Amino acid sequence: MRLRNVTGSREQVAESRFVVQEPERFRGVWNDFFQNQNPLHIEIGTGKGRFLTSLAVQNPSINYLGIEKYSSVLLRAVQKMEQMEECANLYFLRYDAEEILSLFDRDEVSRIYLNFSDPWPKDRHAKRRLTSREYLRRYDQFLTKDGAVIFKSDNRGLFDFTLEEAAQAGWKTSEVTYDLHRSEYMQGNIMTEYEEKFSALGNPIHRVVLTR
Ligand code: SAM
Repeated sequence: MRLRNVTGSREQVAESRFVVQEPERFRGVWNDFFQNQNPLHIEIGTGKGRFLTSLAVQNPSINYLGIEKYSSVLLRAVQKMEQMEECANLYFLRYDAEEILSLFDRDEVSRIYLNFSDPWPKDRHAKRRLTSREYLRRYDQFLTKDGAVIFKSDNRGLFDFTLEEAAQAGWKTSEVTYDLHRSEYMQGNIMTEYEEKFSALGNPIHRVVLTR
């Protein structure tokens, strides 16, 4: 993803009431943070946040956290929240997913969404892909037993890599489609910013559900 440095974005994100500051302090106690016992779903690489804001409005009894590495992108999600009605079940974190184990304790998250994750095409960067076996190992440590990782991408190379990594790591794959928008799984699909852009170009969207 090409990133534009947005002047003041770091400060605005640091001051936003929609962004959890020092989120490590809620590791193991996210239910206290949300003040309820609802399940927790997260999106990693949330970008401008459209996917998660729509989901959160549709599902008030699920808690959502959107994790994004860059303030310049997260700022757009935060601005969206400011224009919405109060949405107590959605917050954002400016955080690098590489350190995700500092955020969540065992069985704390029941769903992980990965939408149009960066492909990191060079072999030597494979470990940085959010569906690599290294990341699956991390997710395994905080995802509930019946939890799932739901991955969407238009990048065939990254998608095939994901299926291979899942098999290597002993994860199961289901609801696999290479053309989501023309599949039985399209009902209820929420388009992300990237999904809209790439599907408008005619790229088929791939999707898989990963479980253990
Ligand atoms: N999910 C959005 C969508 O589908 O429209 C954005 C997709 S964009 C290609 C990938 C996003 O993941 C970028 O916003 C990027 O900054 C973020 N990202 C990449 N690596 C990350 C990491 N290690 N931790 C958190 N966010 C990351």
